Amino acid sequence: MNWIKNISIFVAVMFVLSACSPKVASETSAETTAQLQSGMGMPIIRSESVVKKDSVSGLTLTTQQSNQIGTQISIGIYDASEVSNDVFDELFLLIDHYEMMISKNIESTELSKVNQMAGKEAVVVSEELYRLIETGLKYGDVSQGYFDVSIGSVVNLWDIGGEHQNLPEDEAIKQAVSKVHYKDVVLSEADRSVMLKNEGMILDLGGIAKGYISDQVGAKILEKGYTAAIINFGGNVYGIGAKPGDRDWVVGVRNPMSEGIVGTLAVKNKAVISSGVYERFFTQDGVRYHHIINPKTGYPEQNNVMSVTIITDKGVDGDALSTTLFLMGLEKGLAFAEQDPSFEAIFITNDAKIYSTKGATQLLNVDNANFEWVNS
Ligand code: FAD
Ligand code: MG
Repeated sequence: MNWIKNISIFVAVMFVLSACSPKVASETSAETTAQLQSGMGMPIIRSESVVKKDSVSGLTLTTQQSNQIGTQISIGIYDASEVSNDVFDELFLLIDHYEMMISKNIESTELSKVNQMAGKEAVVVSEELYRLIETGLKYGDVSQGYFDVSIGSVVNLWDIGGEHQNLPEDEAIKQAVSKVHYKDVVLSEADRSVMLKNEGMILDLGGIAKGYISDQVGAKILEKGYTAAIINFGGNVYGIGAKPGDRDWVVGVRNPMSEGIVGTLAVKNKAVISSGVYERFFTQDGVRYHHIINPKTGYPEQNNVMSVTIITDKGVDGDALSTTLFLMGLEKGLAFAEQDPSFEAIFITNDAKIYSTKGATQLLNVDNANFEWVNS
């Protein structure tokens, strides 16, 4: 099965890029197992532990993977000895809890209830979902409308990465775009409700939720008393604390043109979040149609940006910013990043050039000769 193959590749990449110690004392193979029950009634596909001894700190790194929220997740935690299954169970169930809150693809989630009532009535939601939508709307303003959480009608039409991905008719795209406008999402603090003003409007938090959920997983790991962990949500990496021995986490920056990486980032206690044309796409008549949509045209953004990587304290901000800066394009996006000290950014363009903010330049090491690092 493909996901088993994918999960093994993913395990290998994770270890190489993020968390492995050069000397491996003991290691078990990443057998897949599915004893956890999702809120949807389906088993949660997850692996058994891979256990490694870190020769520098003497600590043990225990890692498990799962297939959730349409992506591959890996969680590695350092401790004096192997971290028990129960801890990972709790973390995977936490992710499941958020999937049952935020997914737009499952009918019974809180978000779907808001979508089902579009144009009809306001829906009272949990504090967390309310705040996440509020954050999404804030990034709508920050990006002057490029980041738009009401993009769902267009995303569903294209279904990029899904079973029914296709190049829709112009007319259908126009029709879907007419439903997209984050200013028509009405929040009411008084009763904590969300109202989508127009029928057919669909909220899609896919551009922000992975970052948010990774923040919550990180917080849970800290709450349990662990101080060093590395989590990876389909390429979005969150290094919690420092790698034991006060070392940096070394996180790969993906080559958006083919396999492999363009270089590495050395960070402590940071989220490293990327958005790019390589994540979900199909090619038709020589055009690459990817999943980051310009909300004004309804088409995947075709500027010369291939990926944007954000380095920030919180995953939720990194996630929203990576999508937003991608849509803003190189010039505007880089200028925007330079004037905000709360995050750093790296752009890779389709002429194989790498541009980094001054702060990111300090953290980045490029070791792929096919790319020119313009401001190194
Ligand atoms: P990002 O660049 O961070 O975001 C791209 C995504 O943002 C797009 O996929 C779209 O959802 C949205 N978006 C596009 N344009 C805009 C815009 N202009 N403004 C704002 N947002 C935009 N996928 C599945 O295939 N199956 C699943 O079962 C599934 N379940 C999910 C459940 C949850 C709770 C979430 C959050 C996502 C789920 N996904 C699922 C989606 C999948 O994991 C996405 O690939 C992911 O959310 C996109 O994140 P990214 O980091 O790849 O890209
Ligand atoms: Mg994003």
